[in-house]
Amino acid sequence: MKAFNFLEVVVMLLIERIVVGPLMSNVYLVFDNITEEGILIDAGDDPDKIIKIIEKNNVEVKRVYLTHGHFDHVLAIRELKDYLECRFYIHQDDLPILERAAESCKKLLGRECSNPPSPDGYVKDGDEITIGENKIKVLHTPGHTPGSVSYLTDDSVFTGDTLFAGAIGRHDFPGGSLDQLLNSLNKLLSLPDNYSVYPGHGPSTTIGVEKIYNPFIGLRGLYRESKKR
Ligand SMILES: [Zn+2]
Ligand SMILES: [Zn+2]
Repeated sequence: MKAFNFLEVVVMLLIERIVVGPLMSNVYLVFDNITEEGILIDAGDDPDKIIKIIEKNNVEVKRVYLTHGHFDHVLAIRELKDYLECRFYIHQDDLPILERAAESCKKLLGRECSNPPSPDGYVKDGDEITIGENKIKVLHTPGHTPGSVSYLTDDSVFTGDTLFAGAIGRHDFPGGSLDQLLNSLNKLLSLPDNYSVYPGHGPSTTIGVEKIYNPFIGLRGLYRESKKR
């Protein structure tokens, strides 16, 4: 019989969802339950709210990883960098979108926002991020934007605005592509059915549930498309 290994049993990633800003964007605090080392996935808005939840969980956050460069996922980055002294990362292909965040925010929300600072580094497909004893893999999932990425743990995936519970990301913004989006969705839907999905907006779901019930995916998606023609 295998010896009982206390650490092997209890080391895991904990996930806390923080809903921020007028577009109800999700920010995820992902942290190792033993070392209390963590990262943020996205930094949409409301830095004070995000910081409060980081402190409540007693987590040390030194890195922020963005799923893409749209303003509703990046507006808190400057304040978070100042307060936490953290670094932040994005896929290079979304740099032009990130650089226009303030302009898009003004246009869509009518609010004065400052542009985020330059990223401290870039993520690319296949990169591995270490959090304590855990690893997260970067999957390039373009289509919603050219540099959209998903972040993959052992049993869950953070999909940004590529896949939602019951919906898929828009591809009609500048830099969007339906073909790329469909490819990326195929990549995500080939993950095991029991994988949890944590999207950039709205509630979490699983790969298995989306395969069956998402009206834009699989046979129902094809049927919908065929009726449009
Ligand atoms: Zn977006
Ligand atoms: Zn969004």
